[in-house]
Amino acid sequence: MTIIIAGPCSVESKEQIEKISKFLSKNKITYLRGGCFKPRTDPKSFQGLEDIGIKYLFDSAKENKQKVVTEILSIEELSRNYDKIDVIQIGSRNMTNYSLLKEVGKITAIDKKPILLKRGFSSTISEFIKASEYISQYGNKNIWYCLRGIRTFEQIDSDLRFTPDLSSILELKEKIKNKNGKIIFDPSHSTGNSKYVLTISKAALLLGADGLMIEVHNNPKNAKTDKEQQLNFKEFEMLIKEIK
Ligand code: PEP
Ligand code: MN
Repeated sequence: MTIIIAGPCSVESKEQIEKISKFLSKNKITYLRGGCFKPRTDPKSFQGLEDIGIKYLFDSAKENKQKVVTEILSIEELSRNYDKIDVIQIGSRNMTNYSLLKEVGKITAIDKKPILLKRGFSSTISEFIKASEYISQYGNKNIWYCLRGIRTFEQIDSDLRFTPDLSSILELKEKIKNKNGKIIFDPSHSTGNSKYVLTISKAALLLGADGLMIEVHNNPKNAKTDKEQQLNFKEFEMLIKEIK
């Protein structure tokens, strides 16, 4: 069964996440994502709703029988919200934050919650795998390896935000075959443009990805973060139909 994780880039309000969660539930999506602690380039930009956002996300997910997938930037954020998070996301910018990886490994050693570890956008596949071992060395081998695009020379003049690292699916599959992991492809951040999300999603599944993580918003044009890449409801429904 293909794992589909979907939801907005950021949780923006109670009403927004309720609406999106309900819509996704109607489309049988059981993993709800939403960023509450946002790793933004500009410190003056929207930083996420933090703990209250996690509460909104958790309440919506509960109402619609979904699992919560959300990023944490520090162990304090995770500890405070631990019981409200089902899949712990470690973002691209934190893939090499080894002390965070160790702490996440320790805190999940008993319950073995899945860790969605995103590939650093300048990291090699070997560095990605080694990073996952910072977590698994404490006993949690339940790692979801998320490919989310890498930065290459193409970004000098490409319209794409990153270069979708599709061939890495093949290589990663081979290299983690003795581990317990899954491969999740993120067509939203890897392209940065909603018009490419469907085709890249199909390609990722064809190449053997176990799942996708897709950004969906009720009103992408007015989203507080990542406006260009989030699918609207109609686009998402079409994607689901096409990848079935
Ligand atoms: C995200 O998925 O919310 C995100 C910030 O992605 P990345 O860490 O890949 O940039
Ligand atoms: Mn985003």
